[in-house]
Amino acid sequence: MDVRRQRTFIMVKPDGVQRRLVGEVIKRFETKGFKLVALKQLHASDQLLRNHYAEHDGKPFFPKLLAYIGSGPVVAMVWEGANVVDVSRKLVGATRPSESAPGTIRGDFAIEVGRNIIHGSDSVESAQREIALWFRPEEVVEWNDHSNEWIY
Ligand code: ADP
Ligand code: MG
Repeated sequence: MDVRRQRTFIMVKPDGVQRRLVGEVIKRFETKGFKLVALKQLHASDQLLRNHYAEHDGKPFFPKLLAYIGSGPVVAMVWEGANVVDVSRKLVGATRPSESAPGTIRGDFAIEVGRNIIHGSDSVESAQREIALWFRPEEVVEWNDHSNEWIY
């Protein structure tokens, strides 16, 4: 598949919504050059969150993680562009804010792993799974801006 058409799942977690950081997150992805192809705010069900974070089921922090992400609305997004999965992880920063570099979203806005603002898919396979979990196909919108071909 064309690497420029790669997609990833990004979610502003409840702390990011409550701290009015949705616009800041969107701005960083837009100014980097990525394309927003899906966006919605929702209060995720426990079942959806268990599914989303299935890889962490059984870990000591799992119950707290579910309570945290289920504590309020999240903003779910799909972003598209060249190597967007890997580049997003760089924009997001390391999982533990104590280790995430200044200039990254977590590095700039978070200090606790249990309140780290944002989720980003960790691989192309995870991205495909997560996008399918959070969005119906018709909620992901294809669009072209031919005057912007210079971006690439
Ligand atoms: P990432 O979100 O960077 O992909 P992980 O997939 O390892 O990180 O963990 C998922 C989320 O679970 C983290 O973003 C964080 O909110 C939470 N988490 C991870 N490890 C811990 C921990 N040790 N204590 C509390 N929460 C944690
Ligand atoms: Mg992860």
